[in-house]
Amino acid sequence: MRFSQTFIPTLREVPADAVIPSHRLMFRAGMLRKLANGLFAYLPLGLRSFRKVEQIIREEMDAIGGLEIKPTVIVPGDLWKESGRWDAMGESLLRVKNRLDADFVVSPTAEEVFTAIVRDEVSSYRQLPLTLYQINTKYRDEIRPRYGVMRGREFVMKDAYSYHPNEASLEETYQAMGQAYRRIFKRCGLSVLPVRADSGAMGGTGSEEFMVESDIGDNTLLFCKTCEYAANVEKASCQPDFTLPSAEAKKNIEKIDTPSVKTINELCAFLKTDAKNFIKTLIYKALNVELDLSETPGGEKLEKRKPRADAPEVYPEAFFAVAIRGDLDVNEVKLAAVLKASEVALAPDAEAERLTGAPLGFAGPVGLTKIPVIADTTVTAMQDAITGGLARDVHYTHVAYGRDFTSWRTADLRIVRAGDRCPQCGGELYEKKGNELGHIFKLGYKYTQGMQVRYLDENGKSQVPTMGCYGIGIDRTLASIIEEHHDDAGIIWPSSVAPYQVLIIPVKYEGEMQAAADKLTAELEHAGIEVLLDDRPERPGVKFKDGDLIGLPYRVVVGDKNLAGNCVEIKPRNAKENRLVSLHEAPQELITLIRKDLLN
Ligand code: ATP
Ligand code: MG
Repeated sequence: MRFSQTFIPTLREVPADAVIPSHRLMFRAGMLRKLANGLFAYLPLGLRSFRKVEQIIREEMDAIGGLEIKPTVIVPGDLWKESGRWDAMGESLLRVKNRLDADFVVSPTAEEVFTAIVRDEVSSYRQLPLTLYQINTKYRDEIRPRYGVMRGREFVMKDAYSYHPNEASLEETYQAMGQAYRRIFKRCGLSVLPVRADSGAMGGTGSEEFMVESDIGDNTLLFCKTCEYAANVEKASCQPDFTLPSAEAKKNIEKIDTPSVKTINELCAFLKTDAKNFIKTLIYKALNVELDLSETPGGEKLEKRKPRADAPEVYPEAFFAVAIRGDLDVNEVKLAAVLKASEVALAPDAEAERLTGAPLGFAGPVGLTKIPVIADTTVTAMQDAITGGLARDVHYTHVAYGRDFTSWRTADLRIVRAGDRCPQCGGELYEKKGNELGHIFKLGYKYTQGMQVRYLDENGKSQVPTMGCYGIGIDRTLASIIEEHHDDAGIIWPSSVAPYQVLIIPVKYEGEMQAAADKLTAELEHAGIEVLLDDRPERPGVKFKDGDLIGLPYRVVVGDKNLAGNCVEIKPRNAKENRLVSLHEAPQELITLIRKDLLN
């Protein structure tokens, strides 16, 4: 391709809202332009790399037996009502109506559509397992799109969905996907960190996320210094840092006056003690709770309802007290999983005060009768603790779990932090920030059950298949490649995803230099190498600057001095020095280099 014939509007200026390198470089290299907040247009150079990422993903999906299909992006709202997500997705779901006033959804993901296709077309165990996928546009009405295509509103995702007659079959595909993802990211030149992820309250049984380390990442990840343990903080657990007491509590519980002392810090100062000796009590509101609460304090008055005809009964809203050691924080993802709730959040202050009968800061588990108490496992070891006294300016001291109060449930609810002990080996955990590029997930029966998928097994018995889902964001992957491969001058593309593999710069596009550059281009293109020939009548300095910015893996400079000795200069974008190579040998040399890159 000749530079003069394509459309690569490079910029010297950096767009004001571009704070991360990939965002700046995609604009400056002429790959991308902004249409509106969270909406972008890929220009020719950007689209070439985009398609390469797609193609790598496609090849690896096909290699493990995935079958590509192409549903629409606009899909019937009825499918989303059937799964319950028409309401559950909230404001991020873009709902539209057609001229007949029928509801539609602009797909943010496609469990419903794929499951509906499988429901209609699969009837026998002989058709299973089945893995279908698409590489297609998604829309999510993100509150705050940012960092260019890293978090856009419209983006492209590869999403795959697999259907299985049993757990073992699901496990096999899930493992194969995990391996395929590792190959995909390696081929894209990305160092990914696979971590254990939360698999949700709704029956998921396993989940792994593929992260890249990033200062702007919105995921906190925990890694063990000793073993291979790696987990999203949403999922991370740790070894107990407490020992269950062997003897009975010694001192009697005591009520003390704590005038105007509310926060743990104030209490620590007031009682000259450490936050570890407190039991913090937080009142939570949970939505769509699937557990049975009929035997809990206040639970007998709650009513279960079916959000839709074929869904399990849930309590639309319920309140809980969560007791946790004073130096720790509650992991709300873990709490939602324990409660089998769709959502949990701290109760509004007024609600919390009504349920505890105490002003904020004086809640405690001793004598709390209106709502169930859920204790973090740390609390079960506490035999001489301080808690709120359920009245203004009152606390209890010498509180013992089991003697002075118990809990309806105990569970691991803490947010694990750097310095905590690895749950596998006891090694020290440390933290990194990460950005999620991909996610694989054993969904189980949530959608197949909910959307009534049935097939006949070997014995002619009607069964529900189990399901997995697997996503990768193309835009975010592309931006992450640039994050990992750039310098001050521009992008440094890995050959596998570069828009072109070779940039040929004739110092002047005329005479012998033109002839040599044209010949080189033709020979390389003949061998299947993608070449960008800078035939513009620009000063060499401008061409070199643009070349570094665009960042093609290999640059060949055709200058009259070297040409006199029948040589050209070859410089890999990531090397400091260039090398003189004979004009005659240059094509083969480049072909060999690029083939070697692509084998990696
Ligand atoms: P996030 O937590 O970053 O919002 P998610 O967990 O909602 O992501 P999934 O539903 O797991 O994302 O989607 C699969 C993949 O789609 C993500 O791993 C990511 O690569 C991509 N993706 C999700 N949201 C966006 C977005 N707003 N812009 C670009 N890519 C996205
Ligand atoms: Mg995810």
